[in-house]
Amino acid sequence: MTPPRTIPDVPLEGLYGAVILDHYRNPRNRHPVPDPDVEAQDFNPFCGDQVEVQAKLDLQGRVTEVGFHAEGCSIIQASASMMTEAMAGKSLDQLEELASHFRQMMQGQLPWDVEGANLGDLAALQMVRLYPVRIKCALLPWTTLEEGMDRWRSRNGARPVG
Ligand code: ZN
Repeated sequence: MTPPRTIPDVPLEGLYGAVILDHYRNPRNRHPVPDPDVEAQDFNPFCGDQVEVQAKLDLQGRVTEVGFHAEGCSIIQASASMMTEAMAGKSLDQLEELASHFRQMMQGQLPWDVEGANLGDLAALQMVRLYPVRIKCALLPWTTLEEGMDRWRSRNGARPVG
């Protein structure tokens, strides 16, 4: 008998698991943002994940309001919730830096212990590295955000107006 071909779920155990579960069950910023400046959506056909990210910027180009909508597994929901929480008040440059930092962590290019790396709850997602097929789920909100930031920049130039 061949078992059904399914993607294994990340068992949400331990301290990191509890942090992920908390964001999954009580997502932060899961609401639409009216008239967003930064906006993008993307999906991961492999897992069925879909995510939409929206953000409003002030005249200095800092995030004043952020929201997301996600469909799919617990990891995409938790990752999107953590990302939007980390976005508050940051400039696009800071977000780019954070995105690259997060990607390095997920790809194992940072030391396992990222204490002091300023990733906060996001550090919990490094347990997903043990389940390589789920890494894409954790990265999808970030690649979607980067897409939205690129689009905003090409519309507005390198610096915000005002
Ligand atoms: Zn997923």
